[in-house]
Amino acid sequence: MASLFESGWLYLINNFSDFQLASLGSFIIHEGVFFLSGLPYLMMECWGLQKYKIQRKMNTPAAQEKCVLWLLLYHSCVNLPLMVVSYPVFKYMGFTSQLPLPSWKVMSFQILSYFILEDFIFYWGHRFLHTKWLYKHVHSVHHEYATPFGLTSEYAHPLEILFLGFATIFGPAITGPHLLTLWIWMSVRVLETVEAHCGYDFPWSLSRVLPIYGGADFHDYHHRLLYTKSGNYSSTFTYMDWIFGTDKGYRKLKALKSDQYHTDSIRPEVNTTLVKAE
Ligand SMILES: [Zn+2]
Ligand SMILES: [Zn+2]
Repeated sequence: MASLFESGWLYLINNFSDFQLASLGSFIIHEGVFFLSGLPYLMMECWGLQKYKIQRKMNTPAAQEKCVLWLLLYHSCVNLPLMVVSYPVFKYMGFTSQLPLPSWKVMSFQILSYFILEDFIFYWGHRFLHTKWLYKHVHSVHHEYATPFGLTSEYAHPLEILFLGFATIFGPAITGPHLLTLWIWMSVRVLETVEAHCGYDFPWSLSRVLPIYGGADFHDYHHRLLYTKSGNYSSTFTYMDWIFGTDKGYRKLKALKSDQYHTDSIRPEVNTTLVKAE
């Protein structure tokens, strides 16, 4: 299996240049992972599936269509050029596509480091985007969708797309990774942000087994509140918001829901005040 994969890899590097693979190849992988992971959530909303949906509200078909059309435009006019211009930096830092492929241990360590770095940069950048002027002129575009649905994860003002791109490629840019590491990192980061915006909190969601992982419920809270009161600014983990106290509203709500759940199971008749308190 490994040798078959290596043969496929050899075919790629013998037929395409590093530049083509790092820019166009990365763009194709990004588009593939993004739309294939995001479209099922859009279909679920179209079919009106309410079970496990975090909010009752659904987006209109016009709003869904608008999101997809703008994404296609921004991806080709902002994301692709960003991948092209960042190539020299990657190359300068030691980027390679050659065999041997990196070990799973090296790739896992690098990708975990990229997640931690990205989360840190995203947290502070996102808090900054929630200041009055930047929110009004830049970040409000992403918040047009108070009920997110997977594909809205990358629906943002071009300046914010550049910031998101910077946070994502900062880790790889300073370490000059192998192309395979870069592609896996990009894919899991896309899967993570699409899941955080999917609008559904499933019993099998990663956030239920990994407490420091934010996930859909954590980020959905950020979208449905006013920009001055939202909190939950991190992209992947929850510890930055916990350290800096920007998750207090969310924790309070979770505690209320948990109290209500326990009260319901013991004395169902006293739950009305707790519902109102939300
Ligand atoms: Zn925000
Ligand atoms: Zn968001």
